[in-house]
Amino acid sequence: MAPLLKPALRRGWRDLNTVQFGMTPAHALTLGPMDTATGSFLDLLNGTRGLELLREEARRMDLPDGHVDGLVRRLAGAGLLDDAKGGGPAADALRRKKEVLDRLRPDLASLSLTTSEPGEAMGRLAARRSLRVQVRGAGRVGSMVASLLSGAGVGEVDVRDVGRVEPGDVAPGGLPAEAVGERRDEAARRAARRCAPDRPPRRSSRSARDPDGIGYSLVIIAPRDDVAVHAPSPSAAEPLISSGTPHLYAGVVEATGVVGPFVLPGETACAGCLHEGRTDRDPVWPRLVAQWRSGLGRARQVPPCDLTLATTIAGLAAAHALAFLDGRVPSSAGARWEVSLPGLSWHARPVWAHPACPCGATEKGEGEHPSEDAGSHETMAEQGPSKKLRRKADAERPAGTRRAHV
Ligand SMILES: [Zn+2]
Repeated sequence: MAPLLKPALRRGWRDLNTVQFGMTPAHALTLGPMDTATGSFLDLLNGTRGLELLREEARRMDLPDGHVDGLVRRLAGAGLLDDAKGGGPAADALRRKKEVLDRLRPDLASLSLTTSEPGEAMGRLAARRSLRVQVRGAGRVGSMVASLLSGAGVGEVDVRDVGRVEPGDVAPGGLPAEAVGERRDEAARRAARRCAPDRPPRRSSRSARDPDGIGYSLVIIAPRDDVAVHAPSPSAAEPLISSGTPHLYAGVVEATGVVGPFVLPGETACAGCLHEGRTDRDPVWPRLVAQWRSGLGRARQVPPCDLTLATTIAGLAAAHALAFLDGRVPSSAGARWEVSLPGLSWHARPVWAHPACPCGATEKGEGEHPSEDAGSHETMAEQGPSKKLRRKADAERPAGTRRAHV
């Protein structure tokens, strides 16, 4: 082990013997009491020395025997310590790819803040290279999501769509203007590949993969069609539910951007649950959806999709996807995060598991909410996902440390 105080956390002394790691409320911790000698010893924890060398340095500084091991244990327990050599064989392989790693260093530094074990951040980053994700929809949102995930180190990003790129599909970070007229899916895959020059080789040929999304770590459903964003089709998601494939919805409808729900089949609410819940609250919901889907009352035209809103939604969707791929349950599980122009205030609408939905999520206890609650959800401005899931998504606070009130 080569102990390294996480460089992503800026250090500051609150007083003579209390050190604060980090600046923001989400990550800042205070540690104390700490004597001056130990305080200056912290500078040696920079990943260039192993434990043996650190013990020698400590003896030279007249620190008592066992002090280094105790300090390292304490810092590791507080989630403040990384290991410059840790993370396992995949991490070692990634370290040898200097150019790839240099490009991903800001992401690695960020991962060090959301992981606790020494070497875990590097392990997670390396693990992204072996993951396979499918994005359905190569409009402004979908093509950007694909590029973001590819750029963030996800090894294989497949994109599915039909038709050819239209001028309105072009977006910075997504499909380039040169792609107009090309096949949408191919152009979006190519754009995603360009965001990750040194991707690992594909493990399977395209023909061998299942178009239903089976075999992917995650499927992101980012339709160009505004009705599909607002009222995602339960039947389209059936193969994902039956194969247990996690999936996430994202898109723009009118001037509203939506991320969620993130669906863990059989555990958290799905598109079917969403549909059933809406029908409970508004019996004419199915009638409206049928009209929207048939295009009734509306001439065929380009649906609204504000470029900045699409970018925002793509960024948030990709972040929720990465949170899951890195081992967490994002806050879009059991919720739809929504934001509308021009106010741009975010809120989460809960999506409860529904007993009439065949996905079975209610059996896990997620859907057991009193029905009188359900009626008020549509109008509630601030609602998060269930406490249980939220806890899963939050980082645990290590024992013996205090969150800094900053
Ligand atoms: Zn369901």
